[in-house]
Amino acid sequence: MRPFLSDRPGRLILAAAVMLGINALSLAAAAPNWKKAQQEMTDWLRGYVRIDTSNPPGNEEQSALYLKSILDKEGISCEIFVSTPGRANLLARIPAKSASPDPALLLLHHMDVVPAQKDQWKHDPFGAVVENNVLWGRGALDTKSTGILQLMAMVLLQRQKVPLGRDLLLLACADEENGGKWGAKWMLEQQSDRLNAGYVIDEGGFGFRDVFTYDGQVVYACAVDEKKIFGLKVTARGQSGHGSIPNSDNPNDILMGAIRRLEQTLIRTETPLHPAVRELEARLPDIRRTPYANALKNNSMAITTLRSGTGVDDDMNRIPATAEAIIDCRLLPGVAEYDLLYRMKQAVNDDRVTIEVIRRTQTQAVYMGYRTPLFEALEKSVKRNHASAMVVPILLPMSSDSRFFRDKNMVCCGLNPLELTEEESMLMHALDERLPLARLEPALKIMYDWVRLFCQPTAKAKKTRPRKQGRGS
Ligand SMILES: [Zn+2]
Repeated sequence: MRPFLSDRPGRLILAAAVMLGINALSLAAAAPNWKKAQQEMTDWLRGYVRIDTSNPPGNEEQSALYLKSILDKEGISCEIFVSTPGRANLLARIPAKSASPDPALLLLHHMDVVPAQKDQWKHDPFGAVVENNVLWGRGALDTKSTGILQLMAMVLLQRQKVPLGRDLLLLACADEENGGKWGAKWMLEQQSDRLNAGYVIDEGGFGFRDVFTYDGQVVYACAVDEKKIFGLKVTARGQSGHGSIPNSDNPNDILMGAIRRLEQTLIRTETPLHPAVRELEARLPDIRRTPYANALKNNSMAITTLRSGTGVDDDMNRIPATAEAIIDCRLLPGVAEYDLLYRMKQAVNDDRVTIEVIRRTQTQAVYMGYRTPLFEALEKSVKRNHASAMVVPILLPMSSDSRFFRDKNMVCCGLNPLELTEEESMLMHALDERLPLARLEPALKIMYDWVRLFCQPTAKAKKTRPRKQGRGS
């Protein structure tokens, strides 16, 4: 009986395969070697983190060559596009098994990172140190791990010879952290015929643990739209003088008063709830009030830079003549920026204060609704790989390159399926950015299945052309 019992599952699978018309060999090849993939991803990510792509200046050409060396070994065709000396973008493609009417899927991440204040880190931010199976490094989360998960999913599909029902593209961009001028924006302007995709998987949310919930349940937060950047520079000009004789024209006092009024104006700005947030709250009625959850629901502002003083260290007894603040405002879609600016200026109403807009989101994409075939494929992948978790659509509190692709009517889903606590996810852009390496393998399983399910040739997939949906969906 024993041989019969041990043989039985195999026979059943074979019988099912024959019934479904699937080649038994392709079934046998359907399970990647996850342990090997985990080790490869670790090695690739460490190599990637070691390339200092701090933006400015970026130097992404080096990282594009690095990714190309991996793709070349796997026999995946790719090209590098230099946008300006030292800055480059990489585009790889696995074509569909046969000419397909289905729009391609583009896997997108950015190679540049925000600068790191090396002397304040525990380990060298570009040393790729692994301590207790945690990888330390700038970009470990934002977004070199996203890129490596996407790359590994693509490589596995190539190795497994999985037939694709649509083209699969991978785009690694420069300059995301500084506006995208030499990266995604440049590629869409200069190489638009090569970026003929209908769907995009980009950075965005994570598999959050205890960010939205209290009970440890993991919530995969997929960004389906994003807030708008509205960066302000506020300058106060006053009366310099002796610190021992305070005057009513101290620019620091003027600046602080103005910032308070800006904040009050922003708080009073009524904005309709974004449909993605409405859906998030419907799925999670008892949502936690964490900084992340608050940021995606509300207009926000953070003072990121303050400049004042006379320029002499610890100059205690001289009142300076000017003070300046840089403020990072993030607005919900639907806020009329220039109406807000007008109301802010009215609220401050002080000719000693100037308010300038120094950075703003230029794109005007219309929200396409969250329930797309790409979102549905993610739900299926999570159900298969992490049954107790849930998937929610979110409005991304920060900005991403997705905005350029949404402007071209592509459906974008922003998610790196790494499981992270809020504390861990807050290390993006912070000191000591790091990633527990054990999270890579479960994230890869979700990414791989997500891409495979979406790209598999089915009769249904042939109807999955992106279409615009109303704001209310
Ligand atoms: Zn970033």
